[in-house]
Amino acid sequence: MLVNLLDFDLQHLSEYCESLGEKRFRATQLFRWIHQRGAKSFDEMTDLAKSLRLSLESRCTVSPLKVISRQNSKDGTIKWLFDVGDGNAVETVFIPEEDRGTLCVSSQAGCAVGCVFCSTGHQGFSRNLNTSEIIAQLWFAEHTLRAERSTQERVISNVVMMGMGEPLQNYSALIPALKTMLSDHGYGISRRRLTVSTSGVVPMIERMGKDAPVALAVSLHAANDELRDRLVPLNKKYPLNELRAACQAYLEVAPRDFITFEYCMLDGVNDSDENAVQILDWLRPRGQMQLSAKINLIPFNPFPASGLTCSPTQRVKAFSQILHNAGLVVTIRKTRGDDIDAACGQLAGEVLDRTDVSSRMSKQKTIPLKAVESF
Ligand code: SAH
Ligand code: SF4
Repeated sequence: MLVNLLDFDLQHLSEYCESLGEKRFRATQLFRWIHQRGAKSFDEMTDLAKSLRLSLESRCTVSPLKVISRQNSKDGTIKWLFDVGDGNAVETVFIPEEDRGTLCVSSQAGCAVGCVFCSTGHQGFSRNLNTSEIIAQLWFAEHTLRAERSTQERVISNVVMMGMGEPLQNYSALIPALKTMLSDHGYGISRRRLTVSTSGVVPMIERMGKDAPVALAVSLHAANDELRDRLVPLNKKYPLNELRAACQAYLEVAPRDFITFEYCMLDGVNDSDENAVQILDWLRPRGQMQLSAKINLIPFNPFPASGLTCSPTQRVKAFSQILHNAGLVVTIRKTRGDDIDAACGQLAGEVLDRTDVSSRMSKQKTIPLKAVESF
């Protein structure tokens, strides 16, 4: 089996080069070719000795993901659907803004957390992505967009791990991918502009603080345990008091002096005045210090199986006002790319009924045409 070099962060690549009898600095050159220049054939890497190129050629590949489809939204948002084998697909979304380009990256095919308002959660868990499959989303998007814009300049300035899956339940693959994103020899994304969003895998928040302290977003959705248990089932394992302690500790190492809390506005479920006050109480329990927070209210993006609806605009505003009046910074997320189902929680990534896919896949190696047509 050939080694996919997209699986390695720079440290691992250096160790790999050493194992081939090469000097470590060769790894830096190789890493730059792959990630900064988007090279995938060793032939192109003209400043590497011919003998090294031949040796790499026989052992390694730079294998990106296969694109199943691409959709362009009216607002400039782009959504790619990538094939990750066995009938699974993951989605990656590019969101252009005036002063930045953000890529929303997936970490798993499906998700095991099963939040009731999330279509990935409804889909269930298929498998973890490996590091190469996570980084390939950025590799592909960055170099495709550069080529289309005829530029050598970086297009993607921000990455958010907010696509499909729970990144902190795929920790060992996530960390090398984050390191490659952060590396000056890789994508040079700053720690402040790289955000991991989690539903609250408490022990892994702490570990990430040691291994790759990037910006943290926590999906809160309710600030009382009884309701959060229902909306985000992981809360039963890591209840709100533990989550709060983990967030407080993370602030010590975080690149920003606040943590972002995402709160999906669900009509009649978590959007009352009382629910807003519960957030305030949770952020500052009696006698304790205030947890430094920014609240991001996300209008719920409906999908049929959820049976839920989004809070009316007036309710979202009133809710936001309560938090604002208490001195919190509150933003209401603009929905982007909803005409192509690229908005938060709309990433389902299911290609076809699985049984159907596997029977077709065994007969043919390419993606079934029906899958391409349906996106
Ligand atoms: N698993 C991680 C990251 C992926 S979800 C997490 O839960 O944080 C990214 C964000 O989209 C989360 O804040 C999630 O709560 C939100 N989200 C999920 N489904 C949604 C929906 N239908 N409408 C709006 N936001 C949704
Ligand atoms: Fe998983 Fe996040 Fe969706 Fe919850 S919101 S099911 S954690 S992807």
